[in-house]
Amino acid sequence: MKRSIKLGKYLGIDIYVHYSWLILLAVLTWGLATGWFPENNPGYHKVMYWGAALISTKLLFLSVLLHEMAHSYIAKKNGITVKSITLFLFGGMAGINEQKLTPGKELKMSIAGPVMSLALAALFYFISRADTFFLLDVSATYISRLNLVLAIFNMVPGFPLDGGRVFRAIVWSVTKDFKKATEMATTAGKAFAYFLIFIGLISIFSAGISAIWLVLIGLFLLMLSTLSYDQVVIRDALTGKRIQEFARKRYKSINPHATLQSAYETLKKTDKKMLPVMDGKKINGIIKINQILNKDKDTWGTLRAKDVMTPASRMPKSKPNTHAYKAFVLMATRGLDFLPVNNQVVFLEDLMRYVKLKVTKERLSKSGFTLTS
Ligand SMILES: [Zn+2]
Repeated sequence: MKRSIKLGKYLGIDIYVHYSWLILLAVLTWGLATGWFPENNPGYHKVMYWGAALISTKLLFLSVLLHEMAHSYIAKKNGITVKSITLFLFGGMAGINEQKLTPGKELKMSIAGPVMSLALAALFYFISRADTFFLLDVSATYISRLNLVLAIFNMVPGFPLDGGRVFRAIVWSVTKDFKKATEMATTAGKAFAYFLIFIGLISIFSAGISAIWLVLIGLFLLMLSTLSYDQVVIRDALTGKRIQEFARKRYKSINPHATLQSAYETLKKTDKKMLPVMDGKKINGIIKINQILNKDKDTWGTLRAKDVMTPASRMPKSKPNTHAYKAFVLMATRGLDFLPVNNQVVFLEDLMRYVKLKVTKERLSKSGFTLTS
């Protein structure tokens, strides 16, 4: 499932927009045109309010893009590649080669975004004071404030917000422990998320349902900080591991000539959502249970696995010496349960089992237990 639209490529970075952002912009345009602008600047025609709302949301979009580009620009200047940016509520860079990250680089990179937002807040403030014309005046006033809010909100010291990254960089440079620094910054992020939810709930009782925004942002932040911490734990556990260490020689597969009926039964029996399609020792492709369910049941007896599978040529390729974490990211982002490696297969569940075992071992040894193996 694609959740974002590609906008284009700047400075060698693919720019995507998350659907949630587009919905948010639409809701915001409507809210500004029918609520905020008429209330704060009464006496104008409806068209003017809608015009100001459209200009404002365009400028907001541009502001967030510039905030993200500022992060990426500084990252690139410090030798850190950024593959893509996805614009959504809290922005987001992806495909960063974090192995090259140092506390100093992370600090510079993280602070660049809020600095850009502050600069934009100042710029739009001056534009709003320049007394140009109504549409630009009200939009600039609004966007100036919004950039200020963005700068302040992002500087809250909770991971994965920019301020949380700054906080992590500082703890990291002091303790020299990346994981511990992330743990502390994440805890701060979660605390801030709970604070937002708490304030939001109180505000709903006193000020009305519109305060639900605070609760939603809090929940979203809570989810993000949990996810980003898990990612650090997984990366840490898989450091130095290559996928060949996890590759299975023996695994359940489906013959390309098997009917959809029998392929379906095999999937059900093994409790898997997808399995490799194998002709002898060669992996021909991958068959997902949805690809079978999408076909009319009458055809299950005649159609073959090879007719509906995703052919190997359209699957991501991995070499035996690929980093295990890279393979994990690939599977997680492409929604795959396994990856073919030559004629062997690496299963996501095997990687996760290894991570869990390693984390449990570490916890036990920290609490004084020693495991003999
Ligand atoms: Zn940022």
